[in-house]
Amino acid sequence: MDDINLRSLQHPELSQAAVASIRRTLDRPNLFLKIPANLKATYQAFQHRDLSRYIRHGAPPLFVLVVGLIALNTYFYRDLLQGDNLRLWLSGSLFVIACTVAGIAAVWSRWGRRHYSAVVTVLSTLVITKLALFPSAFSDATLRVFEAYSCVLAVIVVVLALRLPFRHIIIVALASTSLVFLLDQMVPSYQLNLVNFLYYYVFISVVCLFIAWQMDEREKTEFFQWLLIGYNMRLNAELQEKLKNQANRDSLTQIPNRRAFEETLEKEWERLHRQQQPLSLLFMDIDYFKPFNDTCGHDAGDKCLKQVALSIQASLNRPPDMVARIGGEEFVVLLPDTDAEGGGVIASRIQSQLEQLAIPHPASDVSRLVTLSIGVATIVPDSETKPKSLLKAADAALYDAKAAGRNRVMHAGGSSPAAQ
Ligand code: GH3
Ligand code: MG
Ligand code: MG
Repeated sequence: MDDINLRSLQHPELSQAAVASIRRTLDRPNLFLKIPANLKATYQAFQHRDLSRYIRHGAPPLFVLVVGLIALNTYFYRDLLQGDNLRLWLSGSLFVIACTVAGIAAVWSRWGRRHYSAVVTVLSTLVITKLALFPSAFSDATLRVFEAYSCVLAVIVVVLALRLPFRHIIIVALASTSLVFLLDQMVPSYQLNLVNFLYYYVFISVVCLFIAWQMDEREKTEFFQWLLIGYNMRLNAELQEKLKNQANRDSLTQIPNRRAFEETLEKEWERLHRQQQPLSLLFMDIDYFKPFNDTCGHDAGDKCLKQVALSIQASLNRPPDMVARIGGEEFVVLLPDTDAEGGGVIASRIQSQLEQLAIPHPASDVSRLVTLSIGVATIVPDSETKPKSLLKAADAALYDAKAAGRNRVMHAGGSSPAAQ
């Protein structure tokens, strides 16, 4: 049997207005809590959580209780059970056992579990009607009293143990009462004693209904609290995601920051060490950015940084490639599984992409446009070298590129200067 428990039950997505309405409902004293129409299906799933387990563990004892009681009492009352009394006793007992078995067989199937409340409502109505009317047909007073007790027991089991929603319990109560009166009129052998009926059936039913109503309201309250817990958990998860994002993102350019870069560098270093594949790192710095700020203003400087960041990002097209802003106007690009030649290709692509963007630079000595100097370093990670050394090598190459006149790509070790 499949089972839905509280952990596997999905919290629905609730709007703020829905949450406010639930809070208001819980704050006010209510005789009947109302489940909003759009949450009815979820509430039903909530009510039926653990139903399979409940049926698995509850059905065998219920069967033993019914059959055991009937067998024991048949034995105790064997002297009284003769003639019509015996016939009545056997037909009544078989009817109750048949309903119990039919109910258990039905709810053991997936269809029956889906229609649990309806199945149990119909069968409970039949059993209670039978037991409420039954005593009136016996000629022996002892048997009448015994059957009345059986009816009380059946009412208690139906209302308190079968997990019927309150609405269905009301249906059982109204339907069985109507049936009792109808059959009493139609079948001459039933001689309903109204006082006994009131005492054994109506009184105990009212008490049980009161308890069932309380259980139902408590379950609805639990449901609302469960909804609020789900809502808070979702808010929490969103907040955590946001915080994590903020911690790893540069607030000006919205690309990853130094912290995110260092984390990724460590991870890729480990992975490429295992796979013995090259890792390239580009270290970039905008040329003459201080004069740019001084002539165009700080706001224009910020805008330029954003444009450069986006432009670098647009030059990368492999999923593991990553750009980060690690200083004022300094960016790094991490290129896993990329050798020195590939690193040089990407560096040149970044430069030409920026050239196409054509951001005017009125104070640069190397161009009329904003340009980048790029240092490239490549390594196949090994256990002796630290990831930081790759950054240092790329930084040194960048220094060489600056010293060699800016707006160019230099590889670590001073090789292949690719002047623009
Ligand atoms: P070089 O070609 O040698 O790199 O010269 P440079 O002027 O770019 O060099 P330097 O590293 O001395 O200048 C960095 C400047 O970047 C300093 C500061 O004016 C500017 N800067 C750093 N962070 C920001 C920022 O967040 N916004 C703006 N607008 N400017 C920044
Ligand atoms: Mg700098
Ligand atoms: Mg600079």
